Amino acid sequence: MKQEATRLLYFLLLFGLAGALVGHAGWALAAGLLAYTLLHLRQLDRLYHWLKDTPEDEAPEATGVWGDIFQSIYQLRRDEYRARASLLGIIERARASVSALKEAVVLVDGHGNLEWWNLAAEKILGLQSPVDSGQPVTNLVRDPLFIRYFEQGPYDEALELPSAVNPGRQLKFSITKFGSNDRLMIVSDITRLHNLEEMRKDFVANVSHELRTPLTVLTGYLETLLTHSEGISPRWLRALQQMDTQAARMTNLVNDLLMLSRLENDSMHQEHKIVNVPALLAQIRNEAITYGMEKQQTITLECDASLRLIGLEEELRSTFSNLVTNAVKYTPAHGQIHLRWWTTTHNGKTQAFFSVKDNGIGIDAKHIPRLTERFYRADAARTTATGGTGLGLAIVKHVLLQHKAHLDIVSAPGKGSTFTCVFPQELIVR
Ligand code: ADP
Repeated sequence: MKQEATRLLYFLLLFGLAGALVGHAGWALAAGLLAYTLLHLRQLDRLYHWLKDTPEDEAPEATGVWGDIFQSIYQLRRDEYRARASLLGIIERARASVSALKEAVVLVDGHGNLEWWNLAAEKILGLQSPVDSGQPVTNLVRDPLFIRYFEQGPYDEALELPSAVNPGRQLKFSITKFGSNDRLMIVSDITRLHNLEEMRKDFVANVSHELRTPLTVLTGYLETLLTHSEGISPRWLRALQQMDTQAARMTNLVNDLLMLSRLENDSMHQEHKIVNVPALLAQIRNEAITYGMEKQQTITLECDASLRLIGLEEELRSTFSNLVTNAVKYTPAHGQIHLRWWTTTHNGKTQAFFSVKDNGIGIDAKHIPRLTERFYRADAARTTATGGTGLGLAIVKHVLLQHKAHLDIVSAPGKGSTFTCVFPQELIVR
């Protein structure tokens, strides 16, 4: 700027001197200023046309401050072009890699309309480019389960559905929210995994079913032998009694496996009815008192007498009974077991609870997250002695899942445990 000011000074000096020589210094200065302004206007005009008409061209030639301005603008633009080109390259690479994925990737905008999808989405979901662009996703994936999942969220777990486009294929939908209510949907073909899972279920169901008959024969003969044991030597009698105990354990195991198979296979289609939980719990308490007779534990029941539940009665009986039987098994003689059935309302949401609280051996914190896995035992030696199958809590978890309920476990070694089933509002009946 200093340079430009000096230039102006020289310019005016020159004009001033020349004017003074002819006796019109004032006019000459005015003419000098006009000429200087015109010079700048010309440069402004060149700048304007360069930016407007030929932005890709190099900066026009100019002297003085205009030369610097042209060069700086040119530099800035070149940097911006380079940054843009590199960003476009990154976007293009990201696009290409998403397009190459085997999973369908679909971008859905805040209104639930399709925004972008990759090639796999065309194959897996049958989307057509560009006609489907901007269409509501629920118009193209019409399964009512999907529509409910998509509209209600909260997308914590994926949704598995048979494919509407490729019969026999099974799909898994996972949705993630981002931005302002935009959604990223990833759909994968899980047919192989699904078939394997089906095979596993069938295998377990068939094996358990097939084991039933030989077991019935064995236990039948053992029972007969034991009721006519007069002539049997004490050594053989002990062997027979052990065989009988183990056969009974195996029967429990087979029954639990069958129950789990049934829960996995067909209870989705069973009709849920109103279950009189208070009456059910009174029965379970009486059975538990008989079951734990030798231990002389105190089993108390606190019950909201008008609180009933919509559900599957036999499955709920088995769930509650499993929890109460466990409390009896894992609580020493003269222990306390408290059963409770009640509701609470929090933030306008009511839930029903069934809890079994004991002051028994308790469970180490590290085992708690895994207790509902099949055959998982906190202490294998001790539970084998109690005749457990390791399937009880797996059954509980499955039944609760079918009632949109869940299990809470609070326990500390030596202090006792509380197992609580939490049921949602929509199942509560008064
Ligand atoms: P099991 O037939 O072995 O009892 P479950 O699935 O019912 O199998 O329970 C899994 C494990 O959880 C048990 O083996 C036991 O270690 C632990 N458990 C369950 N209930 C209780 C309880 N009330 N107190 C202490 N441990 C328990």
